[in-house]
Amino acid sequence: MKRRVAVIPGDGIGPDITKEAIRVLEAVAPNTFSFEYYKAGGEALDSVGVPLPDETLGGCKKSEAVLLGSLGGPKWDTLPSHLRPEKGLLGLRGGLGLFCNLRPAILYPQLKEACPLKNELVEGGLDIMVVRELTGGIYFGKRGRDEESAFDTEEYTKAEVERIARKAFVIAQGRSKRLCSIDKANILISSQLWREVINTLSEEYPDVEVTHMYVDNAAMQLVRRPQQFDTIVTNNIFGDILSDEAAQITGSIGMLPSASLGDGGVGMYEPIHGSAPDIAGKDLANPIAMILSAAMMLRHSFGMEREAQRIEEAIHTVLDEGYRSADIYSDGMKKIGTTEMGRRIATALKGEK
Ligand code: NAD
Repeated sequence: MKRRVAVIPGDGIGPDITKEAIRVLEAVAPNTFSFEYYKAGGEALDSVGVPLPDETLGGCKKSEAVLLGSLGGPKWDTLPSHLRPEKGLLGLRGGLGLFCNLRPAILYPQLKEACPLKNELVEGGLDIMVVRELTGGIYFGKRGRDEESAFDTEEYTKAEVERIARKAFVIAQGRSKRLCSIDKANILISSQLWREVINTLSEEYPDVEVTHMYVDNAAMQLVRRPQQFDTIVTNNIFGDILSDEAAQITGSIGMLPSASLGDGGVGMYEPIHGSAPDIAGKDLANPIAMILSAAMMLRHSFGMEREAQRIEEAIHTVLDEGYRSADIYSDGMKKIGTTEMGRRIATALKGEK
């Protein structure tokens, strides 16, 4: 029986890049998946008046994984907050119980000129995995305001820290076995609990070397000596900020995927960029972030590590051959569009068999 994948192409460039990810999945694992298409975000607002129709959430819950393009765009920016396309995204994360966000920040050696840091800091490339807690902390804590003051609350339970930490230890085990936990334990009691749980748990993962770093230092170290990091685990707000910083130092938003995972159930995979309405439908979008998101899906939802690696290798091959979409183009390279990039990656895969 085929494995069920829910596909939400979404808005803007979402449909353009999703098509290429499906093309690559069909090439790496023919006849393995059944793709079922659903609406969310602006497209769903236009057709049924809500950003996350019940049918979409229901369909995603019945699938083994969700591939999401991107949601939103200027057309829906003036709607009241409960009708904004972003509500579709939050509804999917909440509805699917996705508490663990994986954001790899990879600088491909072929694209090192896109990195805003000095070349010697990133010689040989960069490969950092940020593991961010996604459903707790200050974004979900008690909040309030009156005329003169306002407050938000950072609160974590031991269980919440433990479940994200376990994911991070396992991810680190599959990489270089170095895990850096980032907190603000010199000031915040919630961070002291965070650190305590990480230290206790580290006894169960003796092969993983754990370090701790304060978040202000981490923000500095990421631009000073980024190669010292391999796997990072951190809370919701620090992860939000640091994963964007890590993404920026790679310099290519069109290249970065993400995964959101829960406890063994459905995983959701999407590029970190938005719907890029300025280039939608023009064959200009870089599909690589979406194709790498599909590779993450193979790795984390289907245990298809070899196939995931083959996709990553095919992307290297196409970059080595000098092909670039407009966002990563530099002099002397061969500029190609969204569809040709997808086709070339799919062809490189077949060539490797
Ligand atoms: P954006 O990421 O869509 O675009 C920022 C810039 O990067 C634009 O110049 C765009 O053309 C370029 N870009 C982005 N992805 C690219 C790709 N794959 N290839 C080539 N160039 C690419 O961010 P924005 O402009 O702030 O947001 C546009 C819309 O997307 C907004 O409505 C926002 O709410 C939404 N958004 C959605 C998500 C999501 O669905 N997860 C995330 C962020 C933003």
